[in-house]
Amino acid sequence: MAPFSVPMNPRKRIALVAHDNKKPDLLEWAEYNKGRLSDHELYATGTTGRLIEEEVGLAINRLESGPLGGDQQLGARISEGSIDVLIFFWDPLEPMPHDPDVKALLRIAVVWNIPIACNRTSADFIFSSPLMQEKYDRPVKEVTEYKDRDVDSPNR
Ligand code: PGA
Repeated sequence: MAPFSVPMNPRKRIALVAHDNKKPDLLEWAEYNKGRLSDHELYATGTTGRLIEEEVGLAINRLESGPLGGDQQLGARISEGSIDVLIFFWDPLEPMPHDPDVKALLRIAVVWNIPIACNRTSADFIFSSPLMQEKYDRPVKEVTEYKDRDVDSPNR
């Protein structure tokens, strides 16, 4: 049976994503939290990552731009256990061409039970948690049970 939890180290792997109308918000938040963010390993979709590097000066592992596959790259990393936290300022007032990717990223983050912040207040609450600096075993009981479920097979 697979384990019921995924270990998260004190140095977290954090994904940062913002839709265009929300990029100023994320940049401001990142500037304010620059010191804390620099304790962790940062990932971002293409444009978000470029702006954080240029305007805030933090080192970012940049993936593809969100609508070009970056959201899906992040989703894959979450399911591989290589992203611990998702800060995703998505835009609730604009339709997005890559809406299915946005939904898929949020869904997989919930499936794997990682902390998700979709606005600044949530990001502030997550970042003020002492767990950001501690080891934490993230429960993934539902994932484990899903993998171990009985499935009818014609060979039985
Ligand atoms: P971007 O992608 O950082 O490349 O703009 C964000 C998104 O829309 O997912």
